[in-house]
Amino acid sequence: MNRSSDPEEPDQINVKIKHRIALRDDDRFWLEIDRLGLHYDRGDSNNVLRLAINVLNVTEDQPEWPEVERLVAIFCSGGHSVSNLFTKAELDTAKWLHLSALGHHGYPQPEENFGYQEATYDVREFCPTCGIGGTQKAPFRIRTEFKASRSQIVQLNWVFDEFFLRNQAREGLRSAGITGIRYLAPMLHKANRQCERVAQMVVKVELPPALDPVGLQPVTCKAENEEWQAMQRRRPFESEKLSHCGRLKYHYTHKGPYRFDGDAFAGAPDVVKSHEWFGSGASAHRLVIVSQRFRQTVIASNWRGVLFEPIELVK
Ligand SMILES: [Zn+2]
Repeated sequence: MNRSSDPEEPDQINVKIKHRIALRDDDRFWLEIDRLGLHYDRGDSNNVLRLAINVLNVTEDQPEWPEVERLVAIFCSGGHSVSNLFTKAELDTAKWLHLSALGHHGYPQPEENFGYQEATYDVREFCPTCGIGGTQKAPFRIRTEFKASRSQIVQLNWVFDEFFLRNQAREGLRSAGITGIRYLAPMLHKANRQCERVAQMVVKVELPPALDPVGLQPVTCKAENEEWQAMQRRRPFESEKLSHCGRLKYHYTHKGPYRFDGDAFAGAPDVVKSHEWFGSGASAHRLVIVSQRFRQTVIASNWRGVLFEPIELVK
């Protein structure tokens, strides 16, 4: 790898791609894996259901990967996830990083029929079919204070582009002078009063269009789109009556880093959202992208709850 110290030269990130395959112990897949001599974690069959699930972790640079890939295509209809293993050096030298949550806690209110959408967003540009286009107009409403007391930065279910800060993290970001955000207390839904223990980290700036979509799965909001066959299997009777806006989003699954045009970050504050939308089905969100300074503040303060992935800057 050719890593240049010239700040004008974008660094190329050579990430390891990790696959996690989780299947029942009695699946024929494991006979094949035994034949390859690969080590995997054997599930515990002493649980009530007596269903042992074995887990294989394998990276694409292992010599067995081509054969495992062939077996996955034959045996895995689910139970297979892909993630990226970045080195500490790749994380430390990235100028910009994608911020995501390690867990999700509670649901935006009211949750019945996704009522939070109209309560929280200006929905004039919102498309309920693909989930693109809402603009926040009111504080989120939450049922109770967030659990996961050890996490300083938390996220609700369903809303993947908003983060909530416990007071310590809010004060920490404020005193570090992190730019591009403001703080907004969510409402406790039933009590109808402001939550005092967390504040939403409202991201003020959206990047111009900058995503390099090579390698990402696009999803167009139209009838019989890229997801249509998979959706038909899950909800065979629903697709007929939907209206479509024609807009585009991308699946989150990515091998290697997300790539963005570096020029789009000129003059950007420490926290921004992507112009582009990500998700599947009726769910769509923007990526939250933070500066290295933001990451260093989180690390130095030992706050838990979030994961960083380097963004690769391209011309
Ligand atoms: Zn749409």
